[in-house]
Amino acid sequence: MQNTGSNSPEPGSAPVHEQPYIPPTPAVGLPLWLLAELTYRCPLQCPYCSNPLDFAKQGQELSTEQWFKVMAEARQMGAAQIGFSGGEPLVRQDLAELIAEARRLGFYTNLITSGIGLTEQKIIDFKEAGLDHIQISFQASDEQVNNMLAGSKKAFAQKLEMARAVKKHGYPMVLNFVTHRHNIDKIDKIIELCVALEADFVELATCQFYGWAHLNRVGLLPTQDQLVRAERITNEYREKLAVDNHPVKLIFVTPDYYEERPKACMNGWGNLFLTVTPDGTALPCHGARQMPIQFPNVRDHTLQHIWYDSFGFNRFRGYEWMKEPCRSCDEKEKDFGGCRCQAFMLTGDASNADPVCSKSPQHNLITQARDEAEYASQTIEQLAFRNERNSRLIAKS
Ligand code: SF4
Ligand code: SF4
Repeated sequence: MQNTGSNSPEPGSAPVHEQPYIPPTPAVGLPLWLLAELTYRCPLQCPYCSNPLDFAKQGQELSTEQWFKVMAEARQMGAAQIGFSGGEPLVRQDLAELIAEARRLGFYTNLITSGIGLTEQKIIDFKEAGLDHIQISFQASDEQVNNMLAGSKKAFAQKLEMARAVKKHGYPMVLNFVTHRHNIDKIDKIIELCVALEADFVELATCQFYGWAHLNRVGLLPTQDQLVRAERITNEYREKLAVDNHPVKLIFVTPDYYEERPKACMNGWGNLFLTVTPDGTALPCHGARQMPIQFPNVRDHTLQHIWYDSFGFNRFRGYEWMKEPCRSCDEKEKDFGGCRCQAFMLTGDASNADPVCSKSPQHNLITQARDEAEYASQTIEQLAFRNERNSRLIAKS
């Protein structure tokens, strides 16, 4: 799965097909956004993938019927959007069935894919099944760099073909480029490619440092100058495109390593966003698996129990768990102390303030990473690629 974005899904932004409903329990939000990570299998090997480092040793995937149950329960609890993701969701042979069932239940359905394994016939089948939205990710605007990062000589050509086919079949074209120090200087070429492909929405998201991206952080984090330049160029393109009345929307997401305040990660822990991983583990965000918490599994519990009663989902709700400086901070209702996974990864204690915050006593970890980025010299070839072999080695160590 692409390691992108603002960490803030926007569930309210799309229409829902029906409105069955259960009234909300006060103080706990509804799981409006269900991310269905159907599989960790993927033909590509992006070194910034947000899947867990030890994905190769994860348990058996949920069956079609088990996913039907998850979707029905989530919908009953008020879930409005579903994202089919992975790994690469296209490797699941039952994807069209899952889409059809999600649509039947009334979900707004999104497919988040690398485009590898997609065919025009599948696009037609998915459309018939009721798929609302397809997002295709690219690794770079340049074929050679794209294929090197993806680990496939055919990836770029396939993505171009499928992006055009998606548009041809009446979908809005939604492209995602994960940017980092090896491709961000080509932001102009990336935008030009998107315009040439007649994209409607483009997410230019500097990778967020979870999973494999965290492992490769030194080789991926852009410098401040790179970021400032990329944002300036994006703004210049926005202005130019607006003059031409071009409909494309460019969304530029900065990495929080260059911020002084953290993002309101997932709009709060267990407040809106529910991930179900390939083996059925339920998480409040897709990065949470690495935390030392026993998260519940949909094979053993209903989603109702998981969302409202499980230890894992209640662990960081509210403000009681906070330590200083968050506990007495007047900004805590705005950002909830930042990202729990990042606090854990960087400080070893998930109850600490996210070190992105300049009020955090560990903010030096972030400034050190920025300094390292100034001197980093890793090439693409030196990155640790996300593949079965590397995952098994990591799982053993
Ligand atoms: S390796 Fe790349 S394409 Fe595959 S799941 Fe990870 S980020 Fe997505
Ligand atoms: S101290 Fe905590 S609550 Fe306050 S701004 Fe920083 S991260 Fe947010």
